[in-house]
This record gives sequence, C-alpha cells and structure tokens, in this order.
Amino acid sequence: MDEQAKIPRATAKRLPIYYRYLTFLNDAGTNRISSAELAEATKFDAATIRRDFSYFGALGKRGYGYDVEALLDFFAKVLDQNSLINVALIGVGHLGQALLNFNFHQSSNMRIAAAFDINENRGKILSGVPIYDMAELEEQIKAQRINIAILTVPQDVAQDITDTLVQAGVKGIMNFTPLRVSVPKGVRVQNVDLTNELQTLVYFIQNYASITTGK
Ligand code: ATP
Repeated sequence: MDEQAKIPRATAKRLPIYYRYLTFLNDAGTNRISSAELAEATKFDAATIRRDFSYFGALGKRGYGYDVEALLDFFAKVLDQNSLINVALIGVGHLGQALLNFNFHQSSNMRIAAAFDINENRGKILSGVPIYDMAELEEQIKAQRINIAILTVPQDVAQDITDTLVQAGVKGIMNFTPLRVSVPKGVRVQNVDLTNELQTLVYFIQNYASITTGK
C-alpha cells in the first residue's frame, strides 16, 4: 500500500492499541464506535484518533462513528505489512557471513531469520542467526513464513537452489551470484553483482573521468 509511507510514526505506533481495543469490541458484538468512545478507552484524545484514522482513509460518519469490523479488517492488513519481514540467506561463505553480520540493522522491519549451508557452519548460530542444513530448507521456510531469500552461493549451484526456493514458496530472491537465474512468473529476482558494479565504476572513471569530475 503506497499510502503506508505517509503515515506518521506516532500514528503507526498507536495502531496496535486501536487494533487490540477494536478486537475486544468486535468480540463483544459491538458494530460501531465513535471517536469519543475510543478516546475514553484508549486515552488518546478524540482529535488525535480522528486524524490518525483519516491517514488510514477511514472516515467516520457523523452520528454513526466508525464501523468496527471494517476498521479491524483494514488495520489487520496494515499491521501485517508493518510486521517484521523474515528473510532467509543461502550460502554462509564470506559474503553470506558479512550479510548476516550486517543484518539490515538500519531497517527496522527486515532481518535475516534463518541461514542455510552445506558446510561446517551447520548447527551453529552466527551473528544471532541459526544456520540450518540445506535439507531443512523447505520445512524452515514454510514454518517461518519466509518468502524472500538472499542467494550467496557459488554460481554453479545457484539455479538448483533457486528452483528449491521457488518450490518452497519463496517469491523474491536477492541474487548475489553472477548467474542470471530463471524463475517462473510471479517470482521476482533482484540481481546484485558486486564485481560488475565495481567494474562499471572503474570503466566510467577510466573512460569518462573528465565528464564525471566535471573538469
Ligand atoms: P563468497 O563467494 O560468499 O565469498 P566463499 O568464497 O566463502 O564465499 P563460495 O564457494 O562462494 O565460498 O560459497 C559460498 C557459500 O555457499 C559457502 O559457505 C558454501 O559452503 C555454500 N554452498 C556451496 N554449495 C552449496 C549448496 N549446494 N547449497 C548451499 N550452500 C552451498
């Protein structure tokens, strides 16, 4: 949802509280609620609540308030999108370990939750991430509801592993191998070839130095 980016942080933080209370109301069979009643229950002031809800595109009707079930449905979706995104990493070599260590700390909602390899790292926990045997890939990916994987394996096994990932239900692959892997429709691959990137930079510096430096 594109509007997500525009929701202020403070509003996003209140969302789980609204959600919890609305769930409670829904379970009790309440169909609608006014911002004043919500304010009473949540201790946020009514103007804040109305403004928050307007960010979500939920507009209360005068004299009616908000529809509890519709709000709940909507908030469940927003919360799901905001929750932590678990990513798998395949191939815990030099690059894989660097990424485990990095673990996208600057981004609050993404993290590598599971890593896989065939080497002696299996069974260890590196940078807080458990390393599983490849035989456990499908089971773990399904159990942890992972649908994004980072590929840092040697090029010659990249396609086979991609096929296994797709089979396990992965929908997005960040491919650090130089191989352009094939995937079925509905699966997205983001290629990150670091060597290629550096080579491109070297090429530009060597050939277009006067343009890039503006001299
Ligand atoms: P990097 O390229 O990340 O610097 P490296 O030089 O340490 O890695 P590579 O030979 O590129 O090692 O392998 C990367 C990692 O992928 C290694 O940890 C290796 O054990 C693992 N790997 C190799 N084959 C497979 C496979 N079939 N399935 C899973 N992991 C594999």
